[in-house]
Amino acid sequence: MRPIVTKFGGSSLADAGQFKKVRDIVKLDSRRLFVVPSAPGRRFDGDDKVTDLLYKCHSLNAAGEDFKWVFDIIRERYLEIARELSLTVDIGKYLDEVEKNIAAGASSDYCASRGEYLNGLLMADLLGYTFVDPQNGIFFGADGRLDEEKTNEVLGELLSKVESAVVPGFYGCGFDGKVKTFSRGGSDITGAIVARAVNAEVYENWTDVSGFLMADPRIVGDARSISHITYREMYELSCAGATVLHEDSVFPVSRAGISTNIRNTNMPEHPGTMISCTAVNRKDFAIFAGIAGKKGFSIILAEKDKPDNSQDLVVGTLEAIKKSGIHFDYMPSGVNNVSLLVETGEFYLGSDKFYGEMEKIKVPHYISVHDNIALIVLVGYGVIHNRETIFRIYEILRKNNIDIYMLNQGSSELSTWVGVNESHLNEAIQAIYSEFTK
Ligand code: ASP
Repeated sequence: MRPIVTKFGGSSLADAGQFKKVRDIVKLDSRRLFVVPSAPGRRFDGDDKVTDLLYKCHSLNAAGEDFKWVFDIIRERYLEIARELSLTVDIGKYLDEVEKNIAAGASSDYCASRGEYLNGLLMADLLGYTFVDPQNGIFFGADGRLDEEKTNEVLGELLSKVESAVVPGFYGCGFDGKVKTFSRGGSDITGAIVARAVNAEVYENWTDVSGFLMADPRIVGDARSISHITYREMYELSCAGATVLHEDSVFPVSRAGISTNIRNTNMPEHPGTMISCTAVNRKDFAIFAGIAGKKGFSIILAEKDKPDNSQDLVVGTLEAIKKSGIHFDYMPSGVNNVSLLVETGEFYLGSDKFYGEMEKIKVPHYISVHDNIALIVLVGYGVIHNRETIFRIYEILRKNNIDIYMLNQGSSELSTWVGVNESHLNEAIQAIYSEFTK
């Protein structure tokens, strides 16, 4: 039997009531043997996240100011959870130690990481699981990045010795042997690392939403949830601005062939979104997985004055773009014209150099730039394997009087990219969404 790794976000652990929900979820499936908690999040609008309070303690102390009043808020949150759940762990003792270390000038990473550390102690007690400190199993290299192979080996070994464990999220051991955190939201990464280390059946990421939606709900009010999506499809959506998982929390599991399941702690019966390595049959809406859009692009078009067969314009334009330090996102081009989709802000930073380099190209040509482009990406394996997709997008946008600046099948073979004027972004997303979900 392969275990399941469950990671719970801050809102899932904000108070004792949420802890109880987590316990019920974990106990419902005997394979849920490895649990990765975040620090307590907000209980209500305007409340503080414990991690933010810990950062505040650090900065107050570093400025020589009193931080005790902030630490008392933190203390009370943990004590209340322990009290309400009748836990036996002496959390007061651990809190004293953390407070003492902050006062002694502990690093900001150390301070921030204690939110997860203390929550891990409570959770291990509640579940009767072993507390495993990631300080002993998650390692960063000299470059400050995760040392994936050492981590996988040592953590795998550590976890193989216990039947079940709670591993606090968000931190590990820096190259200097001291506590080091990931970037904010980094408990997702810890969950993925643990899932790889124990070769999990699935990595469950429990949060406060029932998975991803097929479109931004602020644009498409009744957007449906995504039941299945592949890691690659999710990546394509993120390129167009969709908020999905952090790339670092995808790689450890996707490379190990482990699926990630986004679930809702407040609605545990909802299956959420399953993210897998290979495509599965989407029964209800096979044609696409999701749609996303982003403003702030420009299209640079370089066109020969007189068509011929030489490749100098294409090669020269690419060299010019490289030399001017501009990153391009997309390049729908032919031998006589090159168009590059770039982020507007970045283009204007390097544009003088770019025009200078373009002047060196021998083939006579002219350059035009279209600003205010929004990029929409329609993602899904079905999109590409359906010959009518492009035609339907074209038709629906035409019917809605929306001009198309670019329409292309993505080279990754699972997305179609549409460029429209920024002012039409929402309208275009709504039109395409309803066309493909009707
Ligand atoms: N507690 C940390 C944060 O607030 C890490 C996490 O929640 O994943 O960023």
